[in-house]
Amino acid sequence: MAAAALCRALARPCGACESCRRVLAGTHPDLIEMKAPGESKSGAIGVDEVRELTRELSEKPFGGDGRAVLVRDAHKMTPPAQNALLKTLEEPGAGTVFLLLAEQEEPLLPTIRSRCRIIRLGRLSLEEMRRGLLLRGVPEAEIEALYERSDGVLGRALELRGNEEVQRMEAFCAALLGGGGEKAMIARLYEAAKFEKAEQALFFDRLEALLRRELARAAREGESSAPPGFTSFALHSMMKETLLAKKRLSSNVGFASAIEQLFGRLFGG
Ligand SMILES: [Zn+2]
Repeated sequence: MAAAALCRALARPCGACESCRRVLAGTHPDLIEMKAPGESKSGAIGVDEVRELTRELSEKPFGGDGRAVLVRDAHKMTPPAQNALLKTLEEPGAGTVFLLLAEQEEPLLPTIRSRCRIIRLGRLSLEEMRRGLLLRGVPEAEIEALYERSDGVLGRALELRGNEEVQRMEAFCAALLGGGGEKAMIARLYEAAKFEKAEQALFFDRLEALLRRELARAAREGESSAPPGFTSFALHSMMKETLLAKKRLSSNVGFASAIEQLFGRLFGG
């Protein structure tokens, strides 16, 4: 819906234009999200978040003629936050569309509800799910299984998929540290060097988590508990290199050279 609000094609959302792709990637400058502060998923959305939103809305849209405001977990807005939002909701400014996503209706004040058009979303059919997932780059082969596991809820399907990738990457990193000889490890590093963009960050992320666990164990149980062939010094070096690599990735230095550095640590350090 946010894509439809910002797309300029005739059949909206087209799913293919720059604007649509940015909305789907979560990088559209005129798609403003209001959510609970920090990382906590359980936190409430308070007056501060609403003030920040109002401030953002007082500035001109980047694209010129439209803006979509997405309030995830709108049912987590505190009553004062809801009251603070009322005026903006009533006069959102030309071309601004508000999307309030709520799991329950009751926590929303009647004054908020009366200013919204309520759309109840049910479970998706397999066909609808297929369209939604394909649009988000999920391969066809995964769709039926995801549909079954997610009970027809698109967001859940995407989450499950995310978890699968995380699990796969965790297994890969564990195998990397699991030994099997130098040859097997070199093969794995070559495999890692071919990772796509989305996998690269996840790789270092999971590797960091794994190294952290291994280092903690080595500190607790002594050197002998380190994975075979790794001294705790080597683990420390790899950790240092992994953290560096994460920084390099965000500054767009090549993944391959980051892997190479890590490679050196594995066998040299
Ligand atoms: Zn479009």
